[in-house]
Amino acid sequence: MSNPLLEKFETPFESAPFSKIKNEDYKPAFIAAIKEAKDEVDAITSNPEAPTFENTIEAMELSGEKLGRISAIFFNLNSAETNDEMQQIAQEVSPLLSEFGNDVRLNQALFERIKKVYNQKEQLNLTAEQAYLLDKKYKGFSRNGANLNDEEKSKLREIDKQLSMLSLQFGQNVLAETNNYQLIITDENDLKGLPSYAIEQAKTDAEQKNSEGWVITLQAPSYIPFMQYAENRGLREKLFKANGVKAFQENEFNNEENVKQIVKLRHERAQILGYKTHADYVLEERMAKTPETVLDFLNDLLVKAKPFAEKEIKELSDFAQEIDGIDTLQRWDHAYYAEKLKQKKFNLSEEELKPYFQLENVTQGAFDVATKLYGITFKEINTIDKYNDEVITYEVLDKDENFLSLLYADFFPRAGKRPGAWMTSFREASNVNGVTKRPHISIVCNFTKPTKDTPSLLTFQEVTTLFHEFGHALHGMLPNTVYESLAGTNVYWDFVELPSQFYENFCYEPEALKLFAKHYKTGEIIPQELIEKVKESSSYMEGYQTVRQLSLGLLDMAYHANNLKEIDNLQAFEKESFKATELYPEVENNMTSTSFSHIFQGGYSSGYYSYKWAEVLDADAFEFFKETGIFNPETAQKFHKLLSSGGTVEPMELYENFRGHKPTPDALLKRAGLVKA
Ligand SMILES: [Zn+2]
Repeated sequence: MSNPLLEKFETPFESAPFSKIKNEDYKPAFIAAIKEAKDEVDAITSNPEAPTFENTIEAMELSGEKLGRISAIFFNLNSAETNDEMQQIAQEVSPLLSEFGNDVRLNQALFERIKKVYNQKEQLNLTAEQAYLLDKKYKGFSRNGANLNDEEKSKLREIDKQLSMLSLQFGQNVLAETNNYQLIITDENDLKGLPSYAIEQAKTDAEQKNSEGWVITLQAPSYIPFMQYAENRGLREKLFKANGVKAFQENEFNNEENVKQIVKLRHERAQILGYKTHADYVLEERMAKTPETVLDFLNDLLVKAKPFAEKEIKELSDFAQEIDGIDTLQRWDHAYYAEKLKQKKFNLSEEELKPYFQLENVTQGAFDVATKLYGITFKEINTIDKYNDEVITYEVLDKDENFLSLLYADFFPRAGKRPGAWMTSFREASNVNGVTKRPHISIVCNFTKPTKDTPSLLTFQEVTTLFHEFGHALHGMLPNTVYESLAGTNVYWDFVELPSQFYENFCYEPEALKLFAKHYKTGEIIPQELIEKVKESSSYMEGYQTVRQLSLGLLDMAYHANNLKEIDNLQAFEKESFKATELYPEVENNMTSTSFSHIFQGGYSSGYYSYKWAEVLDADAFEFFKETGIFNPETAQKFHKLLSSGGTVEPMELYENFRGHKPTPDALLKRAGLVKA
């Protein structure tokens, strides 16, 4: 029986044959491809010849190709074009995939061969990229304990088991505490100030919970507009305080012990693996490298941003005093008055901007900027399969008109697509032993749809989102590297947002805007004053926002860059960590850590700093373009080199080669208005 997923793709560009694939093809294809990948690994370990780079490292890199191809198609579609059946298949194949992954990771015979190659690294005459690949494959095992003795290994497994249970429990408690709370409003006056969408949401929530009146919850779409717009100060305080005791109350959902346990076990785990702290372990595979670098980075920014934050809060306090006679501005007042002051200062309306940003023009603008920078061109094609008629496909050519990449663009929301925007790939670039594979990249968004008489007009945020995802897409399309696992966006976590955030900068530059920001009816280019307003309002309250982010980054590091055998009192610990960043009067019985899911449930532990880190990088990189001209060919050539090198070089080295020096926060501070005029 034929299965299109398992056969060679006899299609233009070997693109995925979506029209031939049926749901029932996936599971058998996964099973067959896993079997094939297993056989390939077995062939490596049972090879009678002594291990070499080619027969071990490269062979591993090339194994499981079919499985990768099938996984990419299936999981990309499960995000962009899913249905009950696909979700059921995902449930069934996920355990098979993780079992296979574990089998490889714990394959001691495979590790012994890799280690033999690793130990003779210096004598092997490897290219820089090969040496880097070898390092990466070796660390993939050693960082999971492959070098430990049996006793240590079983200890590590035990810790991992406990940690995964604790993280799960942590998340479940936060969820339960979020869901268990509701603020019931029965007096319509208490809704004053709320925009109509928020009132509708509150009504729907009440109906769903069989409650009278309106219900406000701790879920973001309900909580945020209430804190931002509700005039009733007492209710804002009540809601804020409810949010601040999430998983910090005397009940079965309290997370204090879970936090303490997670922190302690992470530290133990790092020590078993030979690292000083959990942060040392995590940061080894980040651009920042060490906890000292991260702490210096955070503290340096704090010194610079805090005076501005204090000034902003002073201005906000005066404003609140003036319009409402508020004596002491509290944390539950912040979002409310910040919004009001923003309206007063900028009075920027989305409706005023949107006519200048027709989707087709903005897309063409993103392309044109890339053409100006890198000489690459885009041609819409209708010769390849699409998984949905709404998808637009492009053939991308390099400056010498050689085929560079396929690009799929999928812009509109529909049932079966998850919310948000992302870049992904159906195939990544590689060029091993003369076999050249160019990438198949995709961007998926949920933008405003066209109506009967209006084309799709984007909000400014949608414009920057499109440029952001397209920035990632360029990273994926441009590789001139050899190995797939080091190509394009396969870079360290605190580096991967540089290409995307960098590209957003063009949305604020008149020279770029005049290419695409044209009124959809009149063709008039967006007025400069409107752009200035957008720019200014985008850095509104930047001092406060910066200090807030730094406070969370510092808390993350306080937990993970220290040897914390025992934390007595979690609240005292948190308070101590927040001391340097506090801008508002203290709120009793209020806790961040017990619901800080990024670091205790998700994968951001010792990584929260990377939000700001990426901003510093993109601002510093773009500053170079501003210094030399935003379409300067030489500067663009240097950035092209950074993008096309993917993950084959240490990111700091790559960055310094581009910029001529290490990144400094000066450009970010300037862009954010955090320098004295
Ligand atoms: Zn991104």
